[in-house]
Parts: sequence; structure tokens; C-alpha cells
Amino acid sequence: MSRPHNDPSSCTALQQALARRFPGRVLTEPDDLARYAADALAAARAYRSGFRADALPAAVVRATSVDDVCRLLEWAQEEGVPVVPFGGGSGVMGGAVAVAGAVTLDLRGLNRIRRVSRQDRTVEAEAGVLLSDLGEALDAHGLFFAHDPWSVHVATVGGAISTNGAGYRVGGYGRMADQVLGVEVVLAGGRLVRTPAVPAPGPGPELHRLFCGSEGTLGVVTAAVLRLWPKPEAERLVALRFRRFEDAWNWVLALVEVRLQPAVLDVGEEPGTGEAAPGGFRTETTVYVGFDGPQEVVEGAVDRSLRIAEKHAAQRLPDEDATEFWRTRHQPGREFARRVRAQPDARVRARWGRLFDYLCVSLPASAVLEFRQAAFERLSREGYRLAEFGLWGCPELVSVAYADPHGDPAEETDRRRLAEVSDWLLRQALRAGGGLEYCHGAGVKLHHLVPEALGAGLDVLRAVKQALDPKGILNPGKLL
Ligand SMILES: Cc1cc2nc3c(=O)[nH]c(=O)nc-3n(C[C@H](O)[C@H](O)[C@H](O)COP(=O)(O)OP(=O)(O)OC[C@H]3O[C@@H](n4cnc5c(N)ncnc54)[C@H](O)[C@@H]3O)c2cc1C
Repeated sequence: MSRPHNDPSSCTALQQALARRFPGRVLTEPDDLARYAADALAAARAYRSGFRADALPAAVVRATSVDDVCRLLEWAQEEGVPVVPFGGGSGVMGGAVAVAGAVTLDLRGLNRIRRVSRQDRTVEAEAGVLLSDLGEALDAHGLFFAHDPWSVHVATVGGAISTNGAGYRVGGYGRMADQVLGVEVVLAGGRLVRTPAVPAPGPGPELHRLFCGSEGTLGVVTAAVLRLWPKPEAERLVALRFRRFEDAWNWVLALVEVRLQPAVLDVGEEPGTGEAAPGGFRTETTVYVGFDGPQEVVEGAVDRSLRIAEKHAAQRLPDEDATEFWRTRHQPGREFARRVRAQPDARVRARWGRLFDYLCVSLPASAVLEFRQAAFERLSREGYRLAEFGLWGCPELVSVAYADPHGDPAEETDRRRLAEVSDWLLRQALRAGGGLEYCHGAGVKLHHLVPEALGAGLDVLRAVKQALDPKGILNPGKLL
């Protein structure tokens, strides 16, 4: 078993040992450690985990090379010291929150783009490269990278792989794992593994997939070869409004029927002036739908999707609305970065927060309307405010966001009530044959529901964990 070094004398010994091994790359000052106490998870959303945003790492190692990572993990395994990988710290599930007395490994110094190949349509990028920097670097090559989350300006390649995130283009291009051709990963003990980086690497299961979504519990990703796409000849995005979510839903299903797959599909049902929805909420649904590819294919797809929309009582919104949506799509990530700059002590930032939750579940399409009805009725009974019910990319990727407008985040009963509602909704999704969370991982927030979500599959994953990380030094208490 790993042992956190949280008594003062062994903490000092650990800090000194690290400073000798990684001169100039170890942080031990309390103000510096406080920056790494939390990620974007607010404690109010993590009631079940007991996370209070008060633990500090014993030290932070800021790796600048793959060799640093190998040497740290070799040493950590020998000493039985836990290591928490930290990318941009924008995770919303607490995957990167500090484990008291452990070492946090900051990977942002591994920030080289090693190779871009126009012909192979690949880039080899180190784990700490920011997604927005990657995008800018590829522009010059006439290529683009398809994973485009709200948080491109703060999230790293390694963090996106480790959470297997989803972005605005998830419908057309898939999740982060679908962009990964191969990974370079350091195992507990320091061994470096590189998986083949071609589209069909067989034989055997695709090993790189094991590390996608594993939240730093099975290895530390140091670099990846990522799939790229030529910049499309044409791109069009249009905005629509539906007075009833059901009309938008039927329109989405009609697109699926004729196999029109938009590159971008963002369906958001929000409080509005439309017809009454379940639970008595009044809502309206705004949709942004985009296609990319050869000019005539794009024009044809837009035209057909609009003709289908007419049959489902859609109102076409001005093109400026769609342009503005696209221009401001990364604003929440920039806002998070601004909050981090304004309050670098992550403990203060994460303490309680708002009584708000945001669930992203994958459901069979046949279960979506029933899930929505159950969710709205429960939220209404609780007196909660519906912030949004949404679909991303396809009918199956569903999100629901809500807030307790009257509760007090400092009150334990209000936090517990929020947790009960969230757990109930997540269990509804599991009962319907769905998944727990489709893009943010489990971290500490959903750790308690992972056994229900994975069943015997969790034993398989734990056996893999035991084989790869017998002392359990990699990100303990997260995901597995
Ligand atoms: C405002 C805002 C908007 C967001 N929008 C989206 C969105 O649209 N889509 C989406 O999917 N997510 C979104 N997120 C969540 C977050 O940005 C993603 O989960 C992102 O992929 C995390 O990347 P990161 O570099 O910040 O990782 P971190 O938060 O640092 O880490 C996330 C997890 O990965 C592990 N990890 C990090 N780097 C490595 C590595 N190199 N090797 C092994 N393990 C590692 C950590 O230990 C942790 O478990 C949003 C977050 C915020 C705050």
C-alpha cells in the first residue's frame, strides 16, 4: 500500500529527497502547494466524497522531460509515495485534487509538439500541450484537431486523454479517445511504454485505449500521436428554435433516419417562453447544427436538415446567432482561467461553491424522453431550478444542469439533498442501461457510484490496476 507523507518530519524528508533528484523543479512553499489543492470541482458538488478542498500535497514536481516522469515514478514506487498527475487542473470531478501528503506531478512542462505530418495527418504532442496551442500550431499546416471542449484554453492533451473528454464536434468526430492513435505512457515503477500509432494497430485489444479515461490511475501519459483532419473546404452552422423539446428531439431522430450526421449538434432546452414541459417548467429549445466537408455536400446537408426542421415546427434564427454561439463557445473555459488567476489558492476557490450540479450521461436513445420526464419531475418536486437539458452530438449524449436556488452551500442538509438528487438521477440513467458520465470521468465526485456503473467490469479494471500499479501509488481514491 502507498503511504502519504503527511507527518511533518517525513514530509520534510520527502521534500528534500525530491529537491535533490529534481533541482529547481520542486515546489514546497505553502502558497505554491495551495495552487494544486483542487481542480474545477467545487466541494458543494462532491458531498458524497467527503472532499473539502483542504488537503495539500507534500510537494509538487514540475516535470520538464519524460525522463523526469520515469525517475519520479521509479522513486515513488520504491518509497510507496502516491503521485497525482496534474494537467491543466480544469477537471470537474476532482481527478487531480491533492491527496494529503502525496506528490502532485505537474505535466505542463512537457509542452513540445514533437512532429506534425501533413501526409499522415498526425501530430505527436506532449502531454502538457494546451489544446488551444495545439490548434494554433496546426493551423499553419492546413490541419485541425477535432476535440474542441469549452475548456480548450486550460485543458491539456494528457488531461483530455485521461478523462476521455468530449467537445463541440463529438457528433462528427467522436470523443478524445477517438482522436488518439497511440500513447507514450510511464507506468508505476518508471517503465516507459509506447503503443503503435496507426489507425488499426492490431493484433490484440488496442492498448492505448486502456489509458484513455483512466484518470491517471494506470499510468502517466507523457505524449500521444493524435489523428488530424484536413481543414474542411466548407463549414456551415445554423441556429434553430423549437417551442417544445419533443419537436427538437423528433427532428434529431429524423436526421439519424436519413443518416445526416452533423459535425456539430448542440441542443439546449432552457427556461423560456415555450410550452410547458414535464414538472411544470416552461422551456424553449435552441439548436446549433453544423456540417463540414466539400462545399456541395455541406450545402446539401444544411438544406436537407432545414427542410426536415420545418416539418418539426422549428423557427430559423438569424445566422448572427450561430456565429456568436461559435465565437463565444470557449468563454466558460476562459472564465475559469480568470477565476484561477484571481484566486490562485485552489482551496478557497473550491470551498463549497454553488448548490449546482451538471450531469452528462450516455443513454440508449429509447430511454432519453423517459429520463427527461423523471428528471424534470424530481427537480420540480425539490423546488430546484432547471438550468439546461441538452444533447451533444447525437441523441444518446444527454446532459442536465440544475441548481438549488434557495439552499445554502454551507449547510450540510442542503448539500446532502443536492447529492441525493444527483445520485438518484444518475441511478435512473444506470437503470435505463446508460453510463455514469460520458466526458468528465469519475474522479472523487462519482467514485462511490463506479461499482454500480461497472459491476463485475470493475473487478477486471482493478485486476489490471493491481498488475500495473501493485503498490497503488497512482492517483489513489480516484475513479477505481
Ligand atoms: C469551464 C469548464 C468547461 C469545461 N468544458 C468541458 C468540455 O466541453 N468537455 C469536456 O470533456 N470537459 C470539459 N471540462 C472539463 C475539463 O476541462 C476536462 O476534463 C479536461 O479534459 C481536463 O484536462 P486537464 O488538462 O485540465 O486535466 P486535469 O484536470 O489536470 O486532470 C484530469 C484528470 O486526468 C489526470 N491527468 C492529467 N494529466 C495526465 C497525464 N498526463 N497522464 C495521466 N493522467 C493525467 C488527472 O490526474 C485527473 O485525474 C470543462 C471544465 C471547465 C472548468
